[in-house]
Amino acid sequence: MHPDCRPVTNSRGGRTASAVAKMPGKAETRGQTRPAPPPGTSNEPAMQISDRDVLLVIDVQNDFCTGGALAVPGGEKVVPAVNRIAQKFANVVLTQDWHPRDHVSFASNHAGKQPIQAIELDYGTQVLWPAHCVQGTSGAEFHRDLDVVRANLVVRKGFRRGIDSYSALFENDKRTPTGLLGYLRERELKTVFVAGLALDFCVRFSAEDARKAGFEVAVIEDACRGIDLDGSVAATRRSFRDLGISMVSLEALL
Ligand SMILES: [Zn+2]
Repeated sequence: MHPDCRPVTNSRGGRTASAVAKMPGKAETRGQTRPAPPPGTSNEPAMQISDRDVLLVIDVQNDFCTGGALAVPGGEKVVPAVNRIAQKFANVVLTQDWHPRDHVSFASNHAGKQPIQAIELDYGTQVLWPAHCVQGTSGAEFHRDLDVVRANLVVRKGFRRGIDSYSALFENDKRTPTGLLGYLRERELKTVFVAGLALDFCVRFSAEDARKAGFEVAVIEDACRGIDLDGSVAATRRSFRDLGISMVSLEALL
């Protein structure tokens, strides 16, 4: 955990989700003289998750797990963590990458191109990927052990042929909405906790868009795994710090 993201103690003596999530800079002590203890050394109760908090679980699908078409190293390891933390939330939203077979993000749809090469599209630079999460295939299904019963909503993204969607809120043109932002606002949800795959792409873009839309955002670090392409995990951490997105541990929420 980044030291700037330490859970803080509120006036009631408990750690709150909103307190940790709204903290872009140094830990606040909320009028107390005693600084917050380092994580893992406190006997205080776990951070309280309220019915205004939502767990946003990004793309825990077969193709992003070991053996899948675009496997994130250790991707399936997020499943027990996500299942455990989901029990604490009244609001759980799942996203599902959901591409047509002729999708623009697939290297196989561009002559002479290989996965991980980038191309320029009208909405900007697009990294090309192996064909993955094709609509209706087993690769696009959620991991079999993911507790989907907890979900109130499933948001599918990336289903338009000509545009990719890393973020759960906006497609890669940064303008086309998925509808999730309207849902979060209409449900009057306040703090978005993000988990899933991959930390440095879809988790990152989702967390950033939620933060820019005015939500408090915390990424549950040990319920995510990254791809790490050209330092993309480090860039993700820098971006989170700059935007005031907290990284919290699963343990702080249990
Ligand atoms: Zn995709």
